[in-house]
Amino acid sequence: MTRPPPKFLQTEERAYYGGGRVKLAQAEAHGAVGFVSVNTLTGERLYPFADDVRQYQSWDMTWRKPDGKPFVASQIPVLANVSVAGAHKLLGQDADMILAAAETREGAVKGFALPFSLHAVLHSEIHKMESENVVGVLPGSDPMLKNEYVVLSAHLDHIGVTPPVKGDAINNGALDNAAGVATTLEVARLLRAGRKPTKRSVLFLIDTAEEKGLIGAEYFARNPTVPGSAITADVDLDMPILTYDFTDVVAFGADRSSIGPAVKRAAARINVKLSPDPMPDEGTFTRSDHYRFVEQGVPAVFLATGFANGGEAATRFFMKTNYHKPSDDLSQAIRYDVGAKFARLNYEITRELADGARPSWNKGDFFADKFVRK
Ligand SMILES: [Zn+2]
Repeated sequence: MTRPPPKFLQTEERAYYGGGRVKLAQAEAHGAVGFVSVNTLTGERLYPFADDVRQYQSWDMTWRKPDGKPFVASQIPVLANVSVAGAHKLLGQDADMILAAAETREGAVKGFALPFSLHAVLHSEIHKMESENVVGVLPGSDPMLKNEYVVLSAHLDHIGVTPPVKGDAINNGALDNAAGVATTLEVARLLRAGRKPTKRSVLFLIDTAEEKGLIGAEYFARNPTVPGSAITADVDLDMPILTYDFTDVVAFGADRSSIGPAVKRAAARINVKLSPDPMPDEGTFTRSDHYRFVEQGVPAVFLATGFANGGEAATRFFMKTNYHKPSDDLSQAIRYDVGAKFARLNYEITRELADGARPSWNKGDFFADKFVRK
Protein backbone atom coordinates (compact mmCIF):
# COMPACT_ATOMS: atom_id res chain seq x y z
CA MET A 1 0.00 0.00 0.00
CA THR A 2 1.22 3.53 -0.63
CA ARG A 3 0.08 6.53 1.31
CA PRO A 4 -1.92 9.30 -0.32
CA PRO A 5 -0.07 12.54 -1.04
CA PRO A 6 -0.22 15.00 1.86
CA LYS A 7 -2.87 17.70 1.81
CA PHE A 8 -0.48 20.61 2.27
CA LEU A 9 0.73 20.21 -1.30
CA GLN A 10 -0.69 22.45 -3.99
CA THR A 11 -3.65 20.51 -5.41
CA GLU A 12 -2.21 19.91 -8.87
CA GLU A 13 1.13 18.84 -7.44
CA ARG A 14 -0.82 16.62 -5.07
CA ALA A 15 -2.61 15.13 -8.07
CA TYR A 16 0.80 14.44 -9.64
CA TYR A 17 1.90 12.42 -6.61
CA GLY A 18 -1.54 10.83 -6.29
CA GLY A 19 -1.59 9.69 -9.92
CA GLY A 20 -1.51 5.94 -10.47
CA ARG A 21 1.73 5.91 -12.44
CA VAL A 22 3.75 7.96 -9.98
CA LYS A 23 2.45 5.86 -7.08
CA LEU A 24 3.35 2.67 -8.91
CA ALA A 25 6.80 3.98 -9.73
CA GLN A 26 7.34 4.95 -6.08
CA ALA A 27 6.17 1.54 -4.89
CA GLU A 28 8.41 -0.19 -7.41
CA ALA A 29 11.38 1.94 -6.33
CA HIS A 30 10.72 0.81 -2.75
CA GLY A 31 10.78 -2.83 -3.72
CA ALA A 32 7.06 -3.60 -4.11
CA VAL A 33 6.23 -6.70 -6.17
CA GLY A 34 2.50 -6.02 -6.41
CA PHE A 35 0.15 -3.12 -5.80
CA VAL A 36 -3.13 -2.96 -3.88
CA SER A 37 -4.85 0.39 -3.51
CA VAL A 38 -7.43 1.41 -0.93
CA ASN A 39 -9.84 4.25 -1.65
CA THR A 40 -9.54 7.17 0.77
CA LEU A 41 -12.63 8.86 2.21
CA THR A 42 -12.01 11.92 0.00
CA GLY A 43 -11.43 9.62 -2.98
CA GLU A 44 -14.69 7.81 -2.25
CA ARG A 45 -16.54 11.13 -2.16
CA LEU A 46 -15.07 12.35 -5.46
CA TYR A 47 -14.95 9.04 -7.35
CA PRO A 48 -17.29 6.52 -5.72
CA PHE A 49 -16.03 2.95 -5.85
CA ALA A 50 -19.35 1.82 -7.34
CA ASP A 51 -18.72 4.01 -10.41
CA ASP A 52 -15.28 2.47 -10.85
CA VAL A 53 -16.73 -1.03 -10.65
CA ARG A 54 -18.98 -0.26 -13.59
CA GLN A 55 -15.90 0.64 -15.66
CA TYR A 56 -13.84 -2.36 -14.49
CA GLN A 57 -16.11 -4.47 -16.67
CA SER A 58 -14.51 -3.06 -19.79
CA TRP A 59 -11.06 -3.85 -21.12
CA ASP A 60 -7.89 -2.20 -20.03
CA MET A 61 -5.85 -0.74 -22.88
CA THR A 62 -2.43 0.54 -23.73
CA TRP A 63 -0.66 1.52 -26.95
CA ARG A 64 1.96 -0.33 -28.95
CA LYS A 65 5.46 1.02 -29.42
CA PRO A 66 7.01 1.11 -32.91
CA ASP A 67 8.59 -2.31 -32.16
CA GLY A 68 5.11 -3.73 -31.60
CA LYS A 69 5.53 -4.22 -27.84
CA PRO A 70 2.88 -2.80 -25.54
CA PHE A 71 3.79 0.32 -23.57
CA VAL A 72 3.62 -0.32 -19.83
CA ALA A 73 4.37 2.45 -17.37
CA SER A 74 5.40 0.11 -14.56
CA GLN A 75 6.56 -3.48 -14.23
CA ILE A 76 4.63 -4.26 -11.05
CA PRO A 77 1.07 -5.53 -11.40
CA VAL A 78 -1.96 -3.80 -9.89
CA LEU A 79 -3.60 -6.69 -8.03
CA ALA A 80 -6.65 -5.08 -6.50
CA ASN A 81 -8.45 -1.86 -5.76
CA VAL A 82 -10.22 -1.97 -2.41
CA SER A 83 -13.24 0.12 -1.43
CA VAL A 84 -13.58 1.87 1.93
CA ALA A 85 -15.99 -0.90 3.02
CA GLY A 86 -13.51 -3.51 1.78
CA ALA A 87 -10.73 -1.86 3.78
CA HIS A 88 -12.79 -2.32 6.95
CA LYS A 89 -13.31 -6.00 6.14
CA LEU A 90 -9.61 -6.52 5.50
CA LEU A 91 -8.09 -4.39 8.23
CA GLY A 92 -10.78 -4.07 10.88
CA GLN A 93 -10.09 -1.19 13.29
CA ASP A 94 -6.77 -0.39 11.63
CA ALA A 95 -8.79 0.80 8.64
CA ASP A 96 -10.29 3.66 10.69
CA MET A 97 -6.83 4.76 11.79
CA ILE A 98 -5.42 4.60 8.26
CA LEU A 99 -8.35 6.37 6.61
CA ALA A 100 -8.34 9.10 9.27
CA ALA A 101 -4.57 9.62 8.97
CA ALA A 102 -4.91 9.90 5.19
CA GLU A 103 -7.27 12.85 5.66
CA THR A 104 -4.86 14.86 7.81
CA ARG A 105 -2.75 17.67 6.45
CA GLU A 106 0.41 15.57 6.45
CA GLY A 107 -1.43 12.47 5.22
CA ALA A 108 1.18 10.48 7.10
CA VAL A 109 0.07 6.89 7.36
CA LYS A 110 2.72 4.93 9.18
CA GLY A 111 3.64 1.69 7.45
CA PHE A 112 3.06 -1.60 9.26
CA ALA A 113 3.08 -5.29 8.47
CA LEU A 114 -0.31 -6.60 7.40
CA PRO A 115 -1.82 -9.36 9.51
CA PHE A 116 -2.27 -11.53 6.43
CA SER A 117 -0.53 -12.29 3.16
CA LEU A 118 -1.92 -12.04 -0.33
CA HIS A 119 -1.66 -14.84 -2.83
CA ALA A 120 -2.62 -13.73 -6.32
CA VAL A 121 -2.48 -15.35 -9.73
CA LEU A 122 -2.96 -13.09 -12.72
CA HIS A 123 -4.37 -14.36 -15.99
CA SER A 124 -4.14 -11.88 -18.84
CA GLU A 125 -5.92 -12.12 -22.15
CA ILE A 126 -4.48 -9.82 -24.77
CA HIS A 127 -6.16 -8.68 -27.95
CA LYS A 128 -4.69 -6.40 -30.58
CA MET A 129 -6.93 -3.74 -32.00
CA GLU A 130 -6.52 -0.64 -34.09
CA SER A 131 -7.89 2.82 -33.50
CA GLU A 132 -6.52 5.89 -35.21
CA ASN A 133 -5.74 9.38 -34.12
CA VAL A 134 -6.80 11.90 -36.74
CA VAL A 135 -4.33 14.74 -37.34
CA GLY A 136 -4.63 17.79 -39.57
CA VAL A 137 -2.34 20.77 -40.04
CA LEU A 138 -3.03 24.31 -41.19
CA PRO A 139 0.40 25.63 -42.22
CA GLY A 140 1.49 28.95 -40.78
CA SER A 141 2.48 31.94 -42.91
CA ASP A 142 5.68 33.09 -41.23
CA PRO A 143 8.75 31.63 -42.96
CA MET A 144 10.38 30.71 -39.63
CA LEU A 145 7.45 30.28 -37.24
CA LYS A 146 5.55 27.98 -39.58
CA ASN A 147 7.98 25.27 -38.42
CA GLU A 148 6.45 25.56 -34.94
CA TYR A 149 3.07 24.08 -34.04
CA VAL A 150 0.25 24.97 -31.70
CA VAL A 151 -1.79 21.85 -30.97
CA LEU A 152 -5.55 21.92 -30.44
CA SER A 153 -6.69 18.52 -29.19
CA ALA A 154 -9.97 16.77 -28.45
CA HIS A 155 -10.70 13.10 -27.89
CA LEU A 156 -12.96 11.29 -30.33
CA ASP A 157 -13.81 8.23 -28.23
CA HIS A 158 -16.27 7.65 -25.42
CA ILE A 159 -16.94 4.68 -23.15
CA GLY A 160 -18.87 2.56 -25.66
CA VAL A 161 -21.42 -0.04 -24.64
CA THR A 162 -21.91 -0.63 -20.90
CA PRO A 163 -24.54 -2.35 -18.77
CA PRO A 164 -27.77 -0.48 -19.58
CA VAL A 165 -29.10 2.49 -17.65
CA LYS A 166 -32.90 2.77 -18.04
CA GLY A 167 -32.74 0.23 -20.87
CA ASP A 168 -30.08 2.10 -22.87
CA ALA A 169 -26.59 0.61 -23.14
CA ILE A 170 -25.04 2.94 -25.72
CA ASN A 171 -22.98 5.79 -24.32
CA ASN A 172 -23.21 8.51 -26.91
CA GLY A 173 -20.86 11.08 -25.43
CA ALA A 174 -22.55 14.13 -26.91
CA LEU A 175 -20.83 16.59 -24.57
CA ASP A 176 -17.99 14.18 -23.69
CA ASN A 177 -16.62 14.66 -26.23
CA ALA A 178 -18.47 15.22 -29.52
CA ALA A 179 -18.78 18.84 -28.35
CA GLY A 180 -14.98 19.17 -28.06
CA VAL A 181 -14.40 17.58 -31.48
CA ALA A 182 -17.04 19.78 -33.12
CA THR A 183 -15.45 22.85 -31.53
CA THR A 184 -12.01 21.86 -32.84
CA LEU A 185 -13.35 21.35 -36.37
CA GLU A 186 -15.11 24.70 -36.19
CA VAL A 187 -11.88 26.45 -35.11
CA ALA A 188 -10.18 24.90 -38.15
CA ARG A 189 -12.97 26.19 -40.37
CA LEU A 190 -12.79 29.69 -38.85
CA LEU A 191 -9.02 29.81 -39.31
CA ARG A 192 -9.32 28.79 -42.96
CA ALA A 193 -12.11 31.29 -43.57
CA GLY A 194 -10.15 34.08 -41.82
CA ARG A 195 -8.44 36.94 -43.59
CA LYS A 196 -4.95 35.98 -42.73
CA PRO A 197 -3.32 32.70 -41.79
CA THR A 198 -1.63 32.29 -38.41
CA LYS A 199 2.13 32.75 -38.16
CA ARG A 200 2.77 29.40 -36.49
CA SER A 201 1.21 26.26 -37.90
CA VAL A 202 -1.84 24.88 -36.11
CA LEU A 203 -2.08 21.13 -35.61
CA PHE A 204 -5.48 19.61 -34.90
CA LEU A 205 -5.30 16.35 -32.98
CA ILE A 206 -8.53 14.38 -32.74
CA ASP A 207 -7.24 11.58 -30.57
CA THR A 208 -8.51 8.17 -29.64
CA ALA A 209 -8.87 6.18 -26.40
CA GLU A 210 -8.80 9.09 -23.94
CA GLU A 211 -11.30 7.28 -21.78
CA LYS A 212 -8.95 4.28 -21.60
CA GLY A 213 -6.16 6.36 -20.04
CA LEU A 214 -5.24 9.23 -22.40
CA ILE A 215 -3.81 6.64 -24.78
CA GLY A 216 -4.16 8.28 -28.20
CA ALA A 217 -2.78 11.55 -26.85
CA GLU A 218 0.12 9.74 -25.19
CA TYR A 219 0.92 7.93 -28.43
CA PHE A 220 0.94 11.22 -30.30
CA ALA A 221 2.88 13.16 -27.66
CA ARG A 222 5.59 10.46 -27.68
CA ASN A 223 5.48 9.76 -31.42
CA PRO A 224 4.48 13.08 -32.96
CA THR A 225 4.02 13.50 -36.70
CA VAL A 226 6.10 16.72 -36.49
CA PRO A 227 9.35 17.22 -34.53
CA GLY A 228 8.56 17.09 -30.82
CA SER A 229 10.64 20.19 -30.14
CA ALA A 230 8.48 22.11 -32.63
CA ILE A 231 5.33 21.59 -30.55
CA THR A 232 4.94 24.83 -28.61
CA ALA A 233 1.64 24.34 -26.76
CA ASP A 234 -1.45 22.20 -26.44
CA VAL A 235 -4.96 23.39 -25.69
CA ASP A 236 -7.28 20.50 -24.96
CA LEU A 237 -11.04 20.59 -25.29
CA ASP A 238 -12.88 17.94 -23.34
CA MET A 239 -16.53 18.00 -22.34
CA PRO A 240 -17.44 21.68 -22.57
CA ILE A 241 -20.81 22.09 -20.84
CA LEU A 242 -22.86 23.87 -23.49
CA THR A 243 -26.23 23.93 -21.75
CA TYR A 244 -25.93 27.51 -20.42
CA ASP A 245 -24.45 30.78 -21.64
CA PHE A 246 -20.98 30.73 -20.10
CA THR A 247 -19.46 34.08 -19.11
CA ASP A 248 -16.22 32.67 -17.72
CA VAL A 249 -13.81 29.89 -18.57
CA VAL A 250 -11.35 27.83 -16.60
CA ALA A 251 -8.01 26.89 -18.11
CA PHE A 252 -6.57 24.13 -15.96
CA GLY A 253 -2.84 24.84 -15.86
CA ALA A 254 -3.30 28.57 -16.57
CA ASP A 255 -1.07 29.57 -13.66
CA ARG A 256 1.81 27.52 -14.94
CA SER A 257 2.66 29.00 -18.32
CA SER A 258 2.16 31.96 -20.62
CA ILE A 259 -0.88 30.13 -22.03
CA GLY A 260 -2.89 31.42 -19.05
CA PRO A 261 -2.42 35.13 -19.87
CA ALA A 262 -2.99 34.34 -23.57
CA VAL A 263 -6.34 32.70 -22.73
CA LYS A 264 -7.22 35.72 -20.57
CA ARG A 265 -6.54 38.17 -23.43
CA ALA A 266 -8.42 36.02 -25.95
CA ALA A 267 -11.41 35.60 -23.65
CA ALA A 268 -11.56 39.33 -22.93
CA ARG A 269 -12.08 39.94 -26.66
CA ILE A 270 -15.46 38.18 -26.43
CA ASN A 271 -16.30 39.47 -22.94
CA VAL A 272 -15.50 36.25 -21.14
CA LYS A 273 -13.50 36.09 -17.91
CA LEU A 274 -10.78 33.63 -16.95
CA SER A 275 -11.57 32.09 -13.56
CA PRO A 276 -9.41 30.00 -11.22
CA ASP A 277 -10.02 26.25 -10.91
CA PRO A 278 -13.36 25.98 -9.04
CA MET A 279 -12.77 22.33 -8.00
CA PRO A 280 -9.09 22.20 -7.03
CA ASP A 281 -9.48 18.92 -5.09
CA GLU A 282 -10.24 17.07 -8.29
CA GLY A 283 -6.74 17.56 -9.69
CA THR A 284 -8.18 18.05 -13.16
CA PHE A 285 -4.88 19.30 -14.56
CA THR A 286 -3.45 15.77 -14.54
CA ARG A 287 -6.54 14.02 -15.84
CA SER A 288 -7.06 14.90 -19.48
CA ASP A 289 -5.19 14.55 -22.76
CA HIS A 290 -3.20 17.79 -22.48
CA TYR A 291 -1.31 16.21 -19.57
CA ARG A 292 0.40 13.79 -21.96
CA PHE A 293 1.94 16.88 -23.59
CA VAL A 294 2.91 18.25 -20.18
CA GLU A 295 4.73 14.96 -19.53
CA GLN A 296 6.77 15.66 -22.66
CA GLY A 297 7.62 19.13 -21.38
CA VAL A 298 5.09 21.02 -23.52
CA PRO A 299 3.10 23.80 -21.78
CA ALA A 300 -0.59 22.96 -22.00
CA VAL A 301 -4.01 23.77 -20.63
CA PHE A 302 -7.35 22.06 -20.52
CA LEU A 303 -10.10 24.52 -21.25
CA ALA A 304 -13.55 24.27 -19.67
CA THR A 305 -16.61 26.47 -19.41
CA GLY A 306 -16.76 28.19 -15.99
CA PHE A 307 -19.06 28.26 -12.96
CA ALA A 308 -20.50 31.80 -13.39
CA ASN A 309 -23.93 32.57 -14.85
CA GLY A 310 -25.46 29.20 -13.94
CA GLY A 311 -22.37 27.23 -14.84
CA GLU A 312 -21.93 25.60 -11.46
CA ALA A 313 -25.49 24.24 -11.42
CA ALA A 314 -25.25 23.13 -15.06
CA THR A 315 -21.94 21.38 -14.43
CA ARG A 316 -23.09 19.67 -11.25
CA PHE A 317 -26.32 18.60 -12.95
CA PHE A 318 -24.38 17.13 -15.86
CA MET A 319 -21.91 15.31 -13.61
CA LYS A 320 -24.71 13.80 -11.55
CA THR A 321 -27.18 12.96 -14.27
CA ASN A 322 -25.41 12.41 -17.58
CA TYR A 323 -21.64 12.11 -17.15
CA HIS A 324 -20.42 8.76 -18.53
CA LYS A 325 -24.00 7.60 -18.90
CA PRO A 326 -26.09 6.79 -21.99
CA SER A 327 -28.05 10.00 -21.32
CA ASP A 328 -25.10 12.16 -22.42
CA ASP A 329 -26.89 12.40 -25.76
CA LEU A 330 -28.62 14.92 -28.01
CA SER A 331 -31.76 15.05 -25.85
CA GLN A 332 -29.84 17.37 -23.49
CA ALA A 333 -30.70 21.06 -23.73
CA ILE A 334 -27.58 21.90 -25.76
CA ARG A 335 -27.30 25.60 -26.64
CA TYR A 336 -25.83 25.66 -30.14
CA ASP A 337 -25.37 29.43 -29.95
CA VAL A 338 -23.19 28.80 -26.90
CA GLY A 339 -21.30 26.15 -28.86
CA ALA A 340 -20.58 28.80 -31.49
CA LYS A 341 -19.35 31.16 -28.76
CA PHE A 342 -17.06 28.46 -27.38
CA ALA A 343 -15.64 27.90 -30.87
CA ARG A 344 -15.07 31.65 -31.26
CA LEU A 345 -13.24 31.71 -27.93
CA ASN A 346 -10.98 28.88 -29.03
CA TYR A 347 -10.33 30.57 -32.33
CA GLU A 348 -9.17 33.66 -30.42
CA ILE A 349 -6.98 31.55 -28.11
CA THR A 350 -5.42 29.75 -31.06
CA ARG A 351 -4.64 33.09 -32.72
CA GLU A 352 -2.99 34.37 -29.53
CA LEU A 353 -0.78 31.31 -29.27
CA ALA A 354 0.00 30.98 -32.96
CA ASP A 355 0.73 34.67 -33.61
CA GLY A 356 2.30 35.85 -30.32
CA ALA A 357 5.46 34.92 -28.42
CA ARG A 358 6.25 31.23 -28.21
CA PRO A 359 4.28 29.79 -25.26
CA SER A 360 6.57 29.14 -22.30
CA TRP A 361 6.48 27.66 -18.81
CA ASN A 362 6.61 30.02 -15.86
CA LYS A 363 10.02 30.08 -14.24
CA GLY A 364 10.41 27.40 -11.60
CA ASP A 365 7.10 25.73 -12.34
CA PHE A 366 6.72 22.33 -10.67
CA PHE A 367 5.72 20.49 -13.85
CA ALA A 368 8.36 22.17 -15.99
CA ASP A 369 10.96 21.05 -13.42
CA LYS A 370 9.61 17.52 -13.56
CA PHE A 371 9.27 17.15 -17.30
CA VAL A 372 11.24 19.63 -19.38
CA ARG A 373 14.35 17.86 -20.68
CA LYS A 374 17.44 19.78 -19.74
ZN1 LIG B 1 -13.85 13.35 -22.07
